Amino acid sequence: MDDEDYRELKAKLRSKRDSLHRRIHKVRRGLRHDAPSPDEDLDDQPLEIPNDEVLNQLEPSTRQELADTLAALERMEEGTYGQCVECGGAISVSRLKARPQALRCIQCAEQAEL
Ligand SMILES: [Zn+2]
Repeated sequence: MDDEDYRELKAKLRSKRDSLHRRIHKVRRGLRHDAPSPDEDLDDQPLEIPNDEVLNQLEPSTRQELADTLAALERMEEGTYGQCVECGGAISVSRLKARPQALRCIQCAEQAEL
């Protein structure tokens, strides 16, 4: 993967995380009984790991996507992004572009689904 791909994937993961972030805030706000302050700026808030009450309101696929997206960003920090968590092999760039939060190479992902 070259630097340009890496930057593109990082931007994709961040925007994915941000949209999930906004969704979680919406859910959390819906669960809260007090009215939120009108000038609350969601974009400036760090992403908190949502509690179970919030998570339970999300679709399982959304929960999985959030977990994978956060894990992928963490792996970018560590410098292990793009390596399969199962076999340690490289995940193809085309797969990452289609699914930037992918943590497994296509072979391992297929096996996991069997
Ligand atoms: Zn693998």
